[in-house]
Parts: sequence; structure tokens; C-alpha cells
Amino acid sequence: MRHPLADLKVSALRDNATPAPEFRRQLQELSQLVAYEALRDFEVLPARVQTPLGEASGARPARPLVLVPVLRAGLAMADGILRMFPTAAVGHIGMFRNEETLEPVHYYFRLPPGAADAHVLLLDPMLATGNSLAAAADRLKEEGIARMTCACIIASRQGVERLRAAHPSLPIYGAALDDALDARGYITPGLGDAGDRIFGT
Ligand code: URA
Repeated sequence: MRHPLADLKVSALRDNATPAPEFRRQLQELSQLVAYEALRDFEVLPARVQTPLGEASGARPARPLVLVPVLRAGLAMADGILRMFPTAAVGHIGMFRNEETLEPVHYYFRLPPGAADAHVLLLDPMLATGNSLAAAADRLKEEGIARMTCACIIASRQGVERLRAAHPSLPIYGAALDDALDARGYITPGLGDAGDRIFGT
């Protein structure tokens, strides 16, 4: 997405001097902005709303929204989006990267009931190699999830290409696109380890 507010928040997140409490706050707010874009194709149905002065036409969700953060950094994105969409249910995918192969290792998977009929927003702030998000999307598709959108904060070009190759119809939204990955699969310049910066580890 392109927006001055998003650019300001990405800059705050990139800044090495931003402490964990401020980092978390900025990441949560930026996640709301990214979700605003990412949910453009979230379907709503017409509804009638009683205002204090009359009746208005309004909207209601066509189906539930389910947030699926990839542990652990995705949790901060979910926190921000839940503030804007408190009725969303939350599933969790636990994965870490094998530091040698950079391939994802699954350790936890849990979805709320009815997720297969919901619109799933898959959340990971860093779309780096694309391996974890591609594996997460594979796993969600195995569960029968047909409507899915991926939201991140910073993506690498390589990660976007990898995820697109694996899931050509998966829409991908993010607030910044970086050119490079280092040997450990970290996005450069990126913002460092998102989980460490969120949780102060
Ligand atoms: N995960 C992170 O937290 N940062 C990166 O740059 C890549 C993966």
C-alpha cells in the first residue's frame, strides 16, 4: 500500500532506536491500516440500521472474519486488527525457521470452528523468504479455507515471488517492499527480528 501515514509508521518501525512499547504500538496501528486495504474484498450484505432519527441502509459481514497470526510476531498484528474488528475470531499457526535450511517447521496449529466458511486474514509482519507463509497458506487450504488474504508489514521481492508462485490467487498486502534478504533470510534493510522487537527479547 502507498500512504504517507503508512510510510511514517514503517519508518518508526525500521528505526533501531524505537523501543519495544512504541514498536508494538506502531505495528498495531500500521496493521490496522494494512487491514483496511487488505479487507477491500471482504464481502458485506445489505442491512437496515435504526439511527436515533430514522432508518439507514447499512452493511453486515457476509461471513465471519478469522485472523490467523503466524506465531509469534503475527500476534501484534492480530492485536491491532482486533481493536478495529473485535468480533473476528483468531486461529494460530506456530512455525519457526530451521536456521540452516530456512525451511519452516510446524509446531502448533489451531483454528476456530467454522473457519472453512470464513474469510481468513493470514498475518505475519515479515514476508521474507516466503517459505513460512507459503507453508501456512498450504495448511489453511488443507483445512478447506477458500477465502484468504495475506497481510504483512514489510515484504521482500523474493518472498512475494515465492508466495505468488505457490499461491497465485492469494492477495498479498504490505506496507513496504524491500529488495534484499541476507544469508540468514532476514529482510534488508527491513526492521530486524520483528518478534524480538515486539517482545523485547
Ligand atoms: N523475520 C523477521 O522477524 N525479520 C526478518 O527480516 C525476516 C524474518
